[in-house]
Amino acid sequence: MTIDYEYEFYEYTNIGIKKLIILIMGSIVMCKCNDCQNEFRTNLGDGALFYNFHCLDCDNIKSFPRNDFSSDSVKACEKCGGKLTHQTLKPMCPNCQSRNTEEIQTVVKYD
Ligand SMILES: [Zn+2]
Ligand SMILES: [Zn+2]
Repeated sequence: MTIDYEYEFYEYTNIGIKKLIILIMGSIVMCKCNDCQNEFRTNLGDGALFYNFHCLDCDNIKSFPRNDFSSDSVKACEKCGGKLTHQTLKPMCPNCQSRNTEEIQTVVKYD
């Protein structure tokens, strides 16, 4: 568990609409980095009403409502300006930015 992800969670849970978003997003899993052995928590998968996109550069997650979604629209990370992708990526280690990580435990499954 890192300060980064704690901040994400704090932000989501303190703003009404964003609280709704995180409650219907995929699942929260514990992951382990094979490079630095760091353990961290992240979200995986899409929610019932949302597509989750991950930033290739910083692993920031952005959700798009399925019913208001155009695959043509330009998607850029709000944090770093990097490219958002809907590909399934291995979670990025918040400690060393490696994607050499593995899922070790599902904490919460929402749908
Ligand atoms: Zn690492
Ligand atoms: Zn980014």
